[in-house]
Amino acid sequence: MNNTKSKELYKAGQKHLVGAVNSPVRAFNSVGGNPLFMGKAHRSKIYDVDGNEYIDLVLSYGPMIIGHGNDKVIEAVQKQVCTGFTFGASTENEIKLAEIVCNAFPGMDKVRFVNSGTEAILSAIRLARAYTGKNHIVKFAGCYHGHSDALLVAAGSGLATLSIPGSAGVPKEAVQNTLIAEYNNIDSVKKHIAECDDIAAVFIEPIAGNMGVVLPSDSFIKELRKITSAAGILLVVDEVMTGFRSKFGGAQELLGIEADITCLGKVVGGGFPVGAYGAREEIMQMVSPLGAMYQAGTLSGNPVAMAAGISTLEELKAQNPYDKFNAQAEIIEKALLAAATENGIELTVNRFGSMINPFFSAKKITNFTEAQECDTARFTKFFWGLIENGVYIPPSQFEAWFLCSVLSDEDMNKIINAINAAMKLAK
Ligand code: PMP
Repeated sequence: MNNTKSKELYKAGQKHLVGAVNSPVRAFNSVGGNPLFMGKAHRSKIYDVDGNEYIDLVLSYGPMIIGHGNDKVIEAVQKQVCTGFTFGASTENEIKLAEIVCNAFPGMDKVRFVNSGTEAILSAIRLARAYTGKNHIVKFAGCYHGHSDALLVAAGSGLATLSIPGSAGVPKEAVQNTLIAEYNNIDSVKKHIAECDDIAAVFIEPIAGNMGVVLPSDSFIKELRKITSAAGILLVVDEVMTGFRSKFGGAQELLGIEADITCLGKVVGGGFPVGAYGAREEIMQMVSPLGAMYQAGTLSGNPVAMAAGISTLEELKAQNPYDKFNAQAEIIEKALLAAATENGIELTVNRFGSMINPFFSAKKITNFTEAQECDTARFTKFFWGLIENGVYIPPSQFEAWFLCSVLSDEDMNKIINAINAAMKLAK
């Protein structure tokens, strides 16, 4: 594989960019080697600057659910670009996207658009504190909720990939009200509730995707809903990754729970920077200008991003790819397990809808501790094997693979062949 130009850009990029990236998950630190610089993408494929073609299972870490360059999305974005980029005033499309989102989430009467998942979450922290008058928050080890101070402890995603326990620059005062619980361990939450009567909210990824894909057990997630309601604690469901991915709407409906506050991002902006938080009427009444909880944004509800979000969600609804996602993910799971067995490699596969993740471990993976015990050296060999064979996955054992709705049978064959070849190299 020729990656001369990526290498040159990596060198050049290090001069004025930090590690030549604008988000650490894009660095290849944990897998060694040179980060790929991408040049263009079309439908299910992405092309690096050296012209190598890959089936894209990163999809910009989730947003590109209907594939790259959908005609209707391009048309909507082009039309908006010609009409105006941003006005600093309300536009009709914000109402339209709000209607689509609120109709898709049973517990959401009102929504506020922001510019990223991080912003949605940090606003939800403030809102939960404003509504309950309490200060503590609970998060689960291995869940990632963006990079705001209060939640940057025991976090997944890039921190898990780079084995960073927290972040420098976060004052201890900023995390002293953050309590850590263990995913799939309801007693770890009950203990906090018993010991602290100042808990405003519990934050959870309904399907964890930032320690690799980890599913909640049915009893854990339902019990979590029950005990938080009973204690007057808000349940903030972080659907930044899962929103519109496992069904049109949120994973919470499939899991049989309803959030007090839901956070969104990624798919909702169709590849443009959009985040959102929403809740039932009485909670959203707290938000400025209706209430005393302040949160604002120069580019929030940006017209181009709203146009991309609306057209992406309309297209997604029309395509209804969710059965196809399950079927294709099942095929990939089977291929992964068969290739692992053939090469005497211990492997566990976790998946939910269009999110899938092989863990190089013989054990079931149900929490962060188990995820961290995986054989990351083997993952690295497997990763490069896939890259060499034209399949682009995140450069980390701890990030989910995503499927898009335009994956063809030919793409699927290519993925399966690449898995077979890469697993041999991972032996
Ligand atoms: N929450 C979850 C569950 C996420 O996966 C992410 C990003 N991967 C975030 C929050 C933060 O979103 P953003 O990167 O848009 O700030």
